[in-house]
Amino acid sequence: MTFFDRAKEFESFDFEGYFNRITDNDVRLAIEKDRPGIFDFLTLISPRAENHIEEMAQKAREMTLRHFGRIIQLFAPLYISDFCTNRCTYCGFNTRNRLERKKLSAREIDTQARIIKKSGIRHILVLTGEDPVNSPVSYLEEAVGILSKHFASTGLEVYPVDEQDYRRLVQAGADSLTVYQEVYDRRIYQNVHPGGRKADFQYRLSTPERACRAGFRSVNIGALFGLAPVRKEAFFTGLHAGYLQTEYPSVEISVSLPRMRKAAGCAAPDHPLDDRTLVQFMTALRLFLPKAGITVSTREPAFLRDRLVHLGATRLSAGSKTEVGGYAEQDKSETPQFEITDKRSVDEVEEMIRQNGYQPVFKDWEPLQVSP
Ligand code: SF4
Repeated sequence: MTFFDRAKEFESFDFEGYFNRITDNDVRLAIEKDRPGIFDFLTLISPRAENHIEEMAQKAREMTLRHFGRIIQLFAPLYISDFCTNRCTYCGFNTRNRLERKKLSAREIDTQARIIKKSGIRHILVLTGEDPVNSPVSYLEEAVGILSKHFASTGLEVYPVDEQDYRRLVQAGADSLTVYQEVYDRRIYQNVHPGGRKADFQYRLSTPERACRAGFRSVNIGALFGLAPVRKEAFFTGLHAGYLQTEYPSVEISVSLPRMRKAAGCAAPDHPLDDRTLVQFMTALRLFLPKAGITVSTREPAFLRDRLVHLGATRLSAGSKTEVGGYAEQDKSETPQFEITDKRSVDEVEEMIRQNGYQPVFKDWEPLQVSP
C-alpha cells in the first residue's frame, strides 16, 4: 500500500465529529501511552488537548532527551537558483512574479560554500525552484559534487524527480532530501498549485517514497501551515511520517512544521497557525513519533526557537539567507523566497543552544569523501 492509498482512507473521515467527542480523560490516556497510535495522535492535536499542553511538553522533553540527548544539529540553506515554472500562490519565486531570476555558476556555488563554511556550518541544504530546463538534474549533480567537497552533509530541497534521478543525486554525494507536501488537502492543493508540474498532487505525495527507495540516508517531510485547516494538516503530516518510518525503517525520517511567511506578491495565510498550537503539534508529534527528527527553520522567531529547543526540536537552521547567492555581500539586492524571522548569526544561535543547556552539533555524519 502506498501512502497515497493510506491517506485516501482518511479522505472522508469526520475530523470535527471526532474532535467533538474527545474528553480530557482521553487526552490524559493518550499522553500516558508508551506507544500512542494514530487516533491517540489525533487526540493530542485536538482542540481539547490545548488544556494539556504543559503535560504534553513535559513528556515531549523526556522523550527527546531519551532518544536524542541534549543535542541540536545545525545547518544552513543555500539557494542556488530561483528559476521556477510553477505558480504556487504562496511563494515569492512563482513564475508570475516579475523578478530577475538568477542561477549560480559552479564558481559562485564554490564561493558561497566557502563563506558558509567559515561560519562553522558543516551541513548544507541546497534549494532551487522547479525548472528542469534552467536547473536540470545534471546541474544539481554538479552542485552536489562541489558542495560535498566542503560539507560533511549535503541535503537537497529541490523539485521532485523520478527515482532514477534521485539515485544519480545520491551517487553525486547528496545524503538527505527535504520535500514538503505543502498541503495534504487535495482540493486546496489544486487551488494553490494552479499550474506547472507541481499541480500533480499524487506525484508530489509519492516523492518521499521514491527518495527512500533511491538510497537517501534521511528524508524530511511536512506541510506548509497556513494554506489549509491546521489540525487536519498536522494529522496527515504525522500519518505520513509514521507510514515512512514503518515502510522504510533504514531511512531516518524527520518532520518540519513550517508556517507561511510574508513573501513578495503573495497573500496572507487563510489558516494561520498560532504559536501555542504550533507547540501543541510539535509535542504531539514527539509523543507519537519519538524517534523522528524535528527541524525548525529561521522562519520562526528567535524567542520561539529558543523554547522549541526544549520541546522536541533536534535540528535548527542558522544564519540563513533565502535569496540566491545571499551569503555574498554583493548579492544583497536579490529577492528572497520568503522573509526570515530569526536573523541571528550562526555564533549567536550556537550560544543560545549552549545557554539552554544543549550542545550544538555541526557534524553528526561522516561521508566517504570530504576535503580537510
Ligand atoms: S514553492 Fe517552489 S515550486 Fe512553488 S513557486 Fe516557490 S520555488 Fe517554485
